[in-house]
Amino acid sequence: MRAQIPERPGSPFPIEVAGIVTKGFGRGSRELGFPTANISPTDIPSQLDRVGVYFGYAMVRQEVFSMVMSLGYNPYYKNVEKSLEIYIVHEFKSDFYGESMRAIVCGWLRPELDYTTRDALIQDIRKDVTIALTALEQPAYAQFKEHPIFKR
Ligand code: ADP
Ligand code: MG
Repeated sequence: MRAQIPERPGSPFPIEVAGIVTKGFGRGSRELGFPTANISPTDIPSQLDRVGVYFGYAMVRQEVFSMVMSLGYNPYYKNVEKSLEIYIVHEFKSDFYGESMRAIVCGWLRPELDYTTRDALIQDIRKDVTIALTALEQPAYAQFKEHPIFKR
């Protein structure tokens, strides 16, 4: 199910995302242990037409972090509206609802899957994070941490 991560990002990557962090259903941190910063569906870039899980870098409060992003309907939760949510690999001391977030999506991890149990979903998210962090160590990906979108 998981494709090999290419040595360097290919088309359509990198893709820029920017928006204000909005309230979702609050399930990420409470039920899964992975809070996801949601942005408004109207800020979803049109190049992101494939639902699934991606990785890259995100900036909040002037700092850039590695991230894993989910785009889609969260089949496990059967959402009706498409959502874009970013789990930032960092321990924040406080929430950042209403603040601006920018991101560079560098690559694709996997399609959106339905899970029979919450634990299976959590296991897969853990794997997503490990694979993302390994890929982002490669210079061809690491360079995007310095992308101009983060300097504006
Ligand atoms: P919601 O459904 O409202 O998005 P979540 O449970 O997914 O609720 O929590 C997301 C919120 O938690 C984010 O909007 C942000 O303010 C905060 N947060 C704290 N730490 C992180 C993190 N490491 N990654 C993403 N969001 C985080
Ligand atoms: Mg969320």
